[in-house]
Amino acid sequence: MRTIRLHDTRSGALLELEPREPGRVGIYACGPTVYNPIHVGNARPFVVFSVLKRFLEHEGYAVTLVINVTDVNDKIYDAARPAGIPSAALAREMTARYVADTDRLGLGRPDREPLASETIDEIVELIETLIDRGSAYAVDGDVYFRVRSDPAYGTLSHRALDDMDQGEGIEGTGRKEDPLDFALWKAGKEGEDTSWPAPWGAGRPGWHIECSAMAEALLGVGFEIHGGGNDLTFPHHENEAAQTRAARGTELSRIWMHNGMLQMAGEKMAKSVGNIASLAQALDDWGRDALVMLLCSGHYRQPIQYSDETLHQARQAARRFSEVARRLHVGPSPPDMGAFTQRFFAALADDFNTPQALAAAHEWVTEANRRGGTGDGDLREMLAVLGLESLLDGAAHEGQPDGAALELLERRQAARAQRDFARADRLRDELAAAGWQVRDSPSGAELVPVDR
Ligand SMILES: [Zn+2]
Repeated sequence: MRTIRLHDTRSGALLELEPREPGRVGIYACGPTVYNPIHVGNARPFVVFSVLKRFLEHEGYAVTLVINVTDVNDKIYDAARPAGIPSAALAREMTARYVADTDRLGLGRPDREPLASETIDEIVELIETLIDRGSAYAVDGDVYFRVRSDPAYGTLSHRALDDMDQGEGIEGTGRKEDPLDFALWKAGKEGEDTSWPAPWGAGRPGWHIECSAMAEALLGVGFEIHGGGNDLTFPHHENEAAQTRAARGTELSRIWMHNGMLQMAGEKMAKSVGNIASLAQALDDWGRDALVMLLCSGHYRQPIQYSDETLHQARQAARRFSEVARRLHVGPSPPDMGAFTQRFFAALADDFNTPQALAAAHEWVTEANRRGGTGDGDLREMLAVLGLESLLDGAAHEGQPDGAALELLERRQAARAQRDFARADRLRDELAAAGWQVRDSPSGAELVPVDR
């Protein structure tokens, strides 16, 4: 097996992937809060961790990818109230839309997609343990985590305690022992239409404890990779890490892997900024090939610009693979082209460097073009890991000339060989009328559809 290294936010270092159980990898990535249709920025972690899973499977690991659905949250109550619909109904509707939209990315579903609302027993048990161990306290039906009781607090996001704001506003003021503390459980409030019983009073869980409980329920503790957008590092992931450390005496996950933000017009794509493109609309406008290509074209840790220009480039890159497919036949690739493939997988093993991997795949294409065609095996293997192997199949179905066109091409080549250029040009015009453009290359002439 190739050695795989991934950047870990906590240590700031590249860590070797060393599974608890040889050959098995658990990945937990924070999924959407379902209060409106997701935008392309929300889809980035879905793509990053789905493609990471495909790569690890290619390397021989059995991977369990968990992407949760946060279906109990303030944002859902806040969106359902003015719409005059029950919050649970809104969450159900938006979960269905999220599933339908991400299905269209064509990368398959995560192995498990837990709902917070179906993990309440585990959440309550985790909070009880935290109270028993002195890491949390109940007050007036709320429960708060005692941040200063955790000496390792802040080691994930590398912040000093005094620079921390839990983002809970004035909520809990007067009940929190310390402004740094954050809510594990919130007593039911006016205008909230769902609540669950608990030993300290009915209410509903806070966001951070939901993820600690869902991750542990499906992957145990000390699993291999916890992922999510880098905007979640603090407070969400810092708090997830603290809760599990305090309750179980061990770390939630070994590697914390954070993806950069999708940017639009130079700013993070976010509903709060108002610069969003819904995933459904982006798929309608550009198609999944261009979107997946765009999200693989940048390193997962870096920001990616979402614009007509970058999408156009991604579409062109995808077309280059479809075009070369017309020159390829199904079968193994020549062994002397294997160096490109090795570089492709070595780049993914080195902190999941998809842009460098794509560069190696493009060099493979250049070489295949230079040779005038070859077996497609290696390219198919590379593109399959990125979820883009269908680029090769599309061409085989739509872009192949029929027998009549090939016969015209042969007659044109014969005319040129006899230096009968007038006849060769007439045959070229006949081909154009039939929708084929003749492209001469060092390895001979070939036909490409005129619209390409
Ligand atoms: Zn989470």
